[in-house]
Amino acid sequence: MKIVLATGNRGKLREFKKMCDVEVIAFSDILGNIDIVEDADSFKGNALIKARTIYEKLEDSEAIVVSDDSGISLPLLGGVPGIYSARYAGEGATDKENLYKLVDTIKEIGVEQTPAYYTAAIAIVSRYGEYVVHGWMHGEALATTRGEKGFGYDPMFVPFGYDKTLGELDDEVKKAISHRAKALALAKPIIRLLAINYKGKR
Ligand code: IMP
Repeated sequence: MKIVLATGNRGKLREFKKMCDVEVIAFSDILGNIDIVEDADSFKGNALIKARTIYEKLEDSEAIVVSDDSGISLPLLGGVPGIYSARYAGEGATDKENLYKLVDTIKEIGVEQTPAYYTAAIAIVSRYGEYVVHGWMHGEALATTRGEKGFGYDPMFVPFGYDKTLGELDDEVKKAISHRAKALALAKPIIRLLAINYKGKR
């Protein structure tokens, strides 16, 4: 049995590897680069598209594929960028371009900060079935950036209960409170149960 991560996002990979107590392999190390069209209308749908696509391409019945679809949502903007977080500034936009577009959008509205939340949907696809779990992190999105840590929108996001952005806070803080950490806490027992199935069927 091997656990394969269906993400090419370096920030996510780094966080996953830190949070997992078992060895995980990035799909790109086995399959190289693959373009996946994420055209579902929810985090859950897009996470399933990613995990199913990689599972099918691996052609390895021993694999458990884990994917993450995530993003930031601002109620002030009707939930935008949401599932479009990775391409908010356009198809192929960099993390920095997306970040500054969101900062500028808030600035133009004329507020210094506004409630925001991150969502992570983690999909698990294996020969014993498919599962999806979610995690959320609430806080405030700022009309400015502070700090260089984390990735994506982290330099503009202050988690609830803190007065620093995720760009300023230590990785350990994010590891304890993030949307991804919460979703992974739910995903881990599922992965453990699947691992038992695989062992039993050998
Ligand atoms: P995905 O790879 O299609 O799920 O896109 C996720 C996008 O949401 C990333 O490119 C980031 O811009 C943003 N995002 C998701 N999780 C985080 C996070 O933990 N910190 C900062 N940005 C995030």
